[in-house]
Amino acid sequence: MAAAAGRPPCLFCQIARGSTSTDLHYADEMVVAFRDINPSAVRHYLVIPVEHIPTVKHLQRKTEDYHLVNHMLNVGKTLLARDAPESMCSRFGFHQPPFNSIDHLHLHCLALPFTPRWRQVKYTTLGPFWGFIEAEKLLDKIRPFSKVTS
Ligand SMILES: [Zn+2]
Ligand SMILES: [Zn+2]
Repeated sequence: MAAAAGRPPCLFCQIARGSTSTDLHYADEMVVAFRDINPSAVRHYLVIPVEHIPTVKHLQRKTEDYHLVNHMLNVGKTLLARDAPESMCSRFGFHQPPFNSIDHLHLHCLALPFTPRWRQVKYTTLGPFWGFIEAEKLLDKIRPFSKVTS
């Protein structure tokens, strides 16, 4: 989707279009993935939608949004499995406003351990930083009602 008229596109929109020097570790028509410039773990990727969606608050319980987040998570898991196979534990999630650093939805994909260790407070749902939501939890929140037939 086009950026708001008259405003320059945000940094992550520019990365998604490949118009920066950022290395894309994955790209398709829906999402791109790249390394966090300030990594908090052995491997720390961000997976972002190509479309500009500001934050998790803008996601709705509907098939498109559920499908998008599920795809972001799958891409993140695939990348970590490929690039950090030695990591025993990983974490996937989003910062909720006002704890998000940039207003373009981005999934943090972390292959643990955290480096340095104190960084973990930013990526846990417990403790003072309750602003983090794990990807699986978010999927539960936006899972379309109509699809839950078994
Ligand atoms: Zn953007
Ligand atoms: Zn973030």
